[in-house]
Amino acid sequence: MIKYALACEQAHEFESWFPSSEAFETQRKRGLVTCPFCSSSKVDKQIMAPSIARTDKAPAVQPGAQPVAVLSDQERELRAALRALREHVMKNAENVGKDFVDEARKMHYGEAEERSIYGEADPAEARALLEEGIDVLPIPVVPDDRN
Ligand SMILES: [Zn+2]
Repeated sequence: MIKYALACEQAHEFESWFPSSEAFETQRKRGLVTCPFCSSSKVDKQIMAPSIARTDKAPAVQPGAQPVAVLSDQERELRAALRALREHVMKNAENVGKDFVDEARKMHYGEAEERSIYGEADPAEARALLEEGIDVLPIPVVPDDRN
């Protein structure tokens, strides 16, 4: 089963489950996928985050300039949360390594099943993905992990 975030022509947003991406396309073309708010059958997928949640827009780290900080207790908690986020991603998402950019594009354009993935992309590649409307999230490197 795949859950899609959908939107109708009037920009009503809703979510629905489908057995597969093919089933979604078939049902949509037959007008069987309708908006629960206005019953319109002109619905399409919302642009989905290909990797993990888009809730946390961490600022991109400039290459060459690593931010440094003296940590207060609150920041220690934040750091623990970042580590937990990273561990969660690594445990639950598929590691596609150097294929990340290709795979993220395929998911965005419907050529691969949408799922959580992580992998490697250099900053220029990540920026190109963002410019194509593909939402990627940098995975924070927690300073302690480098020790
Ligand atoms: Zn609607």
